[in-house]
Amino acid sequence: MPADFEMEALKAQAVVARTYTIYKAINKKHDNADICDQSTCCQAWVSKDERFSRWEEDKRDSNWQKIVDCVNQTKGIIITYGNQPINAFFHSNSGGVTETAVNVWGGGNYPYLQTVETAGEEGYSQYASEVTLKREELIEKLKTKYQDIAINFDVPEDIQILEHTESGRVKTVKFGNHEISGVETRTLLGLKSTNFEITRENDNIKFVVKGYGHGVGMSQTGADAMAKGGSSFEEIIKHFYTGVELKNANEI
Ligand SMILES: [Zn+2]
Repeated sequence: MPADFEMEALKAQAVVARTYTIYKAINKKHDNADICDQSTCCQAWVSKDERFSRWEEDKRDSNWQKIVDCVNQTKGIIITYGNQPINAFFHSNSGGVTETAVNVWGGGNYPYLQTVETAGEEGYSQYASEVTLKREELIEKLKTKYQDIAINFDVPEDIQILEHTESGRVKTVKFGNHEISGVETRTLLGLKSTNFEITRENDNIKFVVKGYGHGVGMSQTGADAMAKGGSSFEEIIKHFYTGVELKNANEI
């Protein structure tokens, strides 16, 4: 989360990151560690030196102090459901509505990860993006997974969205002789989220995308928008995670 976001948003992020870490340490994925620093596996992490190198020099000390304050002001607090730490997923920008975990990763459903709407996310640079591909570029990207892909570009229906999830994201897309999930389409084509529309312009296929990230749990820009509207970190967390309680980690 950018350090220039509101204090209450950064405090919510501190609680979310702490909860996520403790959840991972309990529900171990790695034999030799509680958690790793790959964002696609566990949780992104950078050293203080690396963090400083990405900030402008005159902002370094004040940014760092702001984050230290947010961590200390929420010291020990974690998010719980049924007296257990939650799997506190978070992402950059929900595009206005979050997604359930089951629609992204399948498998188990988490009662606290439901679809919720957030206002104000359209004001952030992470909200809107586009990817335009030429016919052969689209084929090339889809071929990395589907070697026998064949699309008749003269037939409009040969590229179409077949199904949406409850949050309005793409569940299934037809690309010629294959039906591909929205999640896989996002990965194969490098889209920022699964919330997209497809338009055709001559030889180009354009993907107009809303939001950034998997869309599950807390939206960072949504948290900042809520904080700007006067919400506390607790209100932000209870908005994005349904039916949860905040507790001190020592209590459970
Ligand atoms: Zn990991």
